Parts: sequence; structure tokens; C-alpha cells
Amino acid sequence: MTADSPDPAATPIIGIDLGTTNSLVAVADAAGPRILATVGNADDDGLVPSVVRYAEDGAVEAVGRPAAAALRTHPERTVYSIKRFMGRRLDERLDDAGAVSYPVVEGVRGLACVEVGGRARTPQEVSADLLRHLRDRASDALGVSVTRAVVTVPAWFDDAQRQATRDAGRLAGLDIVRIVNEPTAAALAYGIGRRDDGETIVVYDLGGGTFDVTVLQVVPPDPGDAEGEAIFQVLATAGDSHLGGDDFDRLIVADLLADLAEREDLADADRARRRALLREVGERAKIALGDADATRLVVDGGGVLPDLDRTVERSWFEAQARPLVDRTLAACERAMRDAGLERDVIDRVVLVGGSTRMPLVREAVESWFGRPAYDALDPDRVVALGAAVQGSVLAGIRRDALLLDVVPLSLGLETAGGAVAKLVMRNSTIPTRATEMFSTSVDGQVNVALHVLQGEREMASDCRSLARFELRGLPPMPAGIPQIEVAFHVDANGVLGVDAVERRSGRRARVQVVPSHGLTVEEVERIEAESYAHAREDMLVHRVVDLAVNAALDAKWIEEALGRVRDELAPELVAEVEAGIGEVRAFVEASRRDPRTVDADAFHAAKDRLDRASVPVHETAITRSLREEADAAKDR
Ligand code: AMP
Repeated sequence: MTADSPDPAATPIIGIDLGTTNSLVAVADAAGPRILATVGNADDDGLVPSVVRYAEDGAVEAVGRPAAAALRTHPERTVYSIKRFMGRRLDERLDDAGAVSYPVVEGVRGLACVEVGGRARTPQEVSADLLRHLRDRASDALGVSVTRAVVTVPAWFDDAQRQATRDAGRLAGLDIVRIVNEPTAAALAYGIGRRDDGETIVVYDLGGGTFDVTVLQVVPPDPGDAEGEAIFQVLATAGDSHLGGDDFDRLIVADLLADLAEREDLADADRARRRALLREVGERAKIALGDADATRLVVDGGGVLPDLDRTVERSWFEAQARPLVDRTLAACERAMRDAGLERDVIDRVVLVGGSTRMPLVREAVESWFGRPAYDALDPDRVVALGAAVQGSVLAGIRRDALLLDVVPLSLGLETAGGAVAKLVMRNSTIPTRATEMFSTSVDGQVNVALHVLQGEREMASDCRSLARFELRGLPPMPAGIPQIEVAFHVDANGVLGVDAVERRSGRRARVQVVPSHGLTVEEVERIEAESYAHAREDMLVHRVVDLAVNAALDAKWIEEALGRVRDELAPELVAEVEAGIGEVRAFVEASRRDPRTVDADAFHAAKDRLDRASVPVHETAITRSLREEADAAKDR
């Protein structure tokens, strides 16, 4: 058997996102696509800074996080942003060469090289040191020796840059079985290209320091060819190699600096430390403003700055940031023009890069293209996940072949009391949509937490949690009055979008997830089997929980009405109703503690008795209200 013939039993083909700032390695196997992190290190989120530090004698001293952390102490022998120099001549990259802290020199054929650890090294060699580190990380995580990888590059990389990437793999002892464009990988992570219909998609990638937009045409595989792969054709790319999240941080930093300059004479000597500290503060504030209308910055200046205590408003930040966002939209416009397309023919927009988490960015892109964007997958990880999906296909593993055209497990929402309201049933064919109305269970509730679940059981705690989000800023209303419409939409690629809108106030929120990720065929079967085993018990618990929610609201309303008309009622009736309220509340309390211990029939009977006993209370209360209204009308 040759190295590249598909053999599922062979070692996996990993996916590597070799980024300018960060790199990641992922795998897609029977357990689904996932990012690989250091085994046993809870602090490792899988992001490996693309940074290598060399010793004076030329040996690799540190790669990734430790190298990045000590960048400032060893600036001249720590290499970062090497991707900017891959396969490029020095004279094409003079600006970048002047901006990095290590020496960049001219090598053979005028190519850019770095001079660290006592000798000149090609960008391929530095990238090979990164790739070796990523390969070892994958081998450790998977417990097998990994030798093959799919590696991603920007869509605009030319032949020389792609060849340099391949050479880096060879130097690292890694067989790069395919180079995939980053936007294509992002689309693959979302399952785009698996189906028969051709599509035109836009991938909008705003990272820390670079911006790329790519227009892709997906040509589906020949329907008769079971092994066929879709072709992702790049129609156009545009972008800005020096525009990213850092520029948004700098808006806040500039404002803080202006403020400080008015107050203090800042010593020049501490400039570098001050900038580093402020940059951190700026980034933190930017991230906080994604969720809040304002954020307070309390900074211990540590001797290089006066202490800071300032509030930054989201409206101010967004006004400052708008021109940066507009620059990205101008690039989108160029790409669309180059592709010869109008915006309305775009089928999907995919978001990539950490900066697309900014609501301002997402909303601007969605409004420019006139459609919701794909953001279900972590925008920092989606490219690596897609590379891994491609690797699994090349290795002959079609793990999700069975989970393709239907919703494998029911999808729903947690209701008050912890039960599940199922909106989309298992085995529904996709695309599909469903809508249901919900309300609040507490008076004056201004924020409503929504919990999206997957599974066949009746209680949220027995299902798989897919996402949590909040509908915020509702005007305070009594419990049960807000009308919250929740819509589930599973599109043709299996991506679930959940939209919630409160009808009276128009407040809305949304979330997107890929329910099939991390789900294997075996797991679906196990979950199904469990649901049959627990069906009866689950149904009873669900009934108790729903009864408890209704009974609690009813008891409250009856108690309020009783308070208003107590003087007009026979004392025996008052006593009977009060006893009924007490009895029902005892059931509600018991259900909240553990619904499994409550006798649903007894609870139902108690609630029924209270409902019947309280009829005269309501009648008297209504008569009294009518009388009071009539009296008031007479007085007017
Ligand atoms: P990337 O190069 O794709 O990892 O993107 C990194 C950039 O994303 C940095 O500028 C981060 O500050 C930015 N970023 C990460 N998370 C958020 C967030 N929640 N809101 C705004 N920007 C973010």
C-alpha cells in the first residue's frame, strides 16, 4: 500500500491552520472534528502563537506560548509573523521587515530570510519549526505518530508561497497531502459542498492584523460519483494585509493616551512598557464592549502610567470603529466587482477571525450582504476544523455520512422548571424550521435566558447543551405577559439558527450552532436507546414540571384576587382556598427540589381542587372591578 492510498485504519491526516499570529492543529475522526490541545493542560485552548525563539547557538529554545510570552525579553532572536515573508523577496516586504524586532536580510534570489541564532534562516525553516511543534502536539494528543497533514494558506497565496509552505512541511518531516485555501477550509467546516447544489459564498476573515474577503464558487461533485469532492473555485479575493483587531484596540489606546497626556508628563523611557500595558487594556475594553453598553477601565499603572479609572461607552467606540469596518466593506465591494457578481446572488456568508465576534462587525457584514452570516463555529478555530474535515475525507473517513440529510436528534429549548420543549423532531429532513411562543415565569423579568438543547429525553439535564444566549432589555411586565417567539431553522448544511424576538418590545437575540459537531453515529444510537429506556419516567417528570410552572402562577393570581375581595367572602370559603393554595405550593416546592419524587396524579388533583374552589373568588373579584369602574365613571 502506498502512503496516499486511502486507508481508514492508517494514522489520521491532521488539519493545520498555519496562521500569521496563531496556529492550530485539529483532527476529524469518529468523534467528530476537534482542535487538539496539550493533554492534561486545562489552560491550553489549542491556540499556538506562531512564534519561535532561537538560542544563541541556533537551537530552537521555545515555540508557541512560552516563546510569545518572553518576546519582549528576547526581541532579536524571537521570530513571529513569519508567514508575511513566506516565498517573498525582501524588496517586496520592506515595510514588514522594518516593523519586526528581528533582523530580516536578503537571501538567495533576493528572498527574505531572518538572521537569528547566529545564521540566516529561510521562512520555510522557521515555519518547519512551527509545523514540527504542531505535529508533535497532535501525536501526543492522539497517541499515534502523525505524519500527514492538510495545511491551509490564504486564497491569494501565489505558487511561490504555496511551494514554500510545502517545503516547510518536508523540512518538518510532515507529508502535506494537500494545501487548502483558508476560506475553503472555513466553508468545509460548515459542511458546505457536501450537497448537490452549487453555491456562491463569501468568506469574511477579520483577524488580529489582517483582513481577507474571498468569493468562492462551489461546484458540487458529480451525483454519480460517491467519492467525489466539491470544487471550491476562488472567483475573487480582496483585503488589507494591515487591518485587523489591533486597529480597533488602538482606537481606545489613542483616547486613553490623549487623556493621560493632558494630565501627566509621561517619561519617554517607559514608552514600550506603557504601550504594551495600554494595548492590553484597549483589547480588554473592546471585547467587553461586545456585550455591554459601557465598560469601566480600572488600571493599576504599575509605575509606567498614572492609575486609570475611566468608562468607555459602546456608542463612542462604535462611532470610532465604523470607518475601519467601512474599509472592510469597501474591500467586499471590490471583491464582488472583480467576481462580476451582485450581492443578492450570494448564498452564504461565513465569518472567520476573532474580530468577527464584534457585534458591530457582524451586523455590518450581515446588513451589507442582506443575510445572516454563519458564525456557529468559533471564528478562531473554523479554518483548522475545516482542514481536519478535508484530512478525514482524504483519509477515507466519512464519519458524518449518516448524519447528513436529517436532524439526527431532536432540537429544543429549556422551559421554566428544567423541562425541554422540542421544536424540531428527530429525523426531520433538512432544511426545516419551527416556531413556538414562550413567556416569562417571573414578574418584571427584563432578561430571559434561552438554552438550546439536543436529545430525546424530557429534562434539560438529560440532554446535550448546544448553546445558551440571552434576550435582554425587555420592558418589565408581569409573568406570562411577554410574548417571546422562538424560531429554529436548520439549513441545508445542518447549521441551526435560533432567533428569539419579544413581540411587544421588538427586542431580539440569536445564536447559531452546528448540532452534528462532536456527535458520532454510535452516540446518536446510544441517545436514542436511552430515551426509550426512560420514556415513561421522563414523561411523568415532564408532566410534573409543567404542572409546577402553571400551578405556581395560578396560586399567585388566586392569592392576589383573594387579597382584594376577602371581606366579601364566607370565612369557610377563604379557609378552603387558602388551604388549597398551601397544598399546591407544597407540591410546587417538592417539584422544584426533585420532580421525580412527586406523584403527578395527586398534584394534578390538588391543583384541580384549588381551581374549582377559587371560582367564586374570581367571580367576586370581577364583579368588584366592574362595580368600581362604574363608580369611577359616575364620578367623572
Ligand atoms: P485571530 O487572529 O483570528 O485569532 O483574531 C484575533 C483578534 O480577534 C484580536 O484582535 C482579538 O482582540 C480579536 N478578538 C478575539 N475575541 C474577540 C471578541 N470577543 N470581541 C472582539 N474582538 C475579539
